[in-house]
Amino acid sequence: NAFTVGLTGGIGSGKSTVADMFAERGATVIDTDVIAHSLTAPGGAAMPALVAEFGPEFATPDGALDRARMRQLVFADPGARTRLEAILHPRIREATNAAAALATGPYTIFVVPLLVESGDWRERVTRVLAVDTPEALQVQRVMARNSFPEAQVHAIMAAQASRQQRLAVADDVVLNDDGLEALVPQVERLHAFYLSEAQRMAI
Ligand code: ATP
Repeated sequence: NAFTVGLTGGIGSGKSTVADMFAERGATVIDTDVIAHSLTAPGGAAMPALVAEFGPEFATPDGALDRARMRQLVFADPGARTRLEAILHPRIREATNAAAALATGPYTIFVVPLLVESGDWRERVTRVLAVDTPEALQVQRVMARNSFPEAQVHAIMAAQASRQQRLAVADDVVLNDDGLEALVPQVERLHAFYLSEAQRMAI
């Protein structure tokens, strides 16, 4: 389907939560993080290239990417991040296109954590939807979910776009500053809008 949405937001902002709510209403949801994880799982399609580029010490004994080690490296060395992305991005793009070709929903939502920060996603989607969350809530939720120390959450957030930068790129916004029930009317309004736009584009 021609009508596509790029859903983005900072770490712990609620992207997966919001995406699930659209999926429950019939949208096809393709999560680029899930795709990236499968590419770097044991036997994943990106693993041979990653081991060749960074060395076997970046693979776990079962042949998955050692995420903690790679996270450390790319934080310390921006060049390493570029080399990592050069391997992952084309493969993510290819796998995403393959998944999108099989989409059966009335429209497709791509979950792209770093849509604002990197790459050409802005041009690949019809609309950008940002999940906008106060930083203090992001920190709370990520600490609770991942048991990361607070400093690590702040370091990750500092490397990501700010709320303002994301809002500047977004066509649509879901504000996630309250309980889950506060998301429902926002998702329902946007879903109705996306359905009508998708229908309009299909004519
Ligand atoms: P990441 O990029 O880190 O994968 P995400 O943006 O996909 O995160 P979620 O996983 O959806 O974020 O949400 C982060 C955590 O916060 C989850 O544990 C989720 O259940 C919780 N959460 C999200 N929104 C709310 C909310 N409105 N009320 C309570 N908990 C929430």
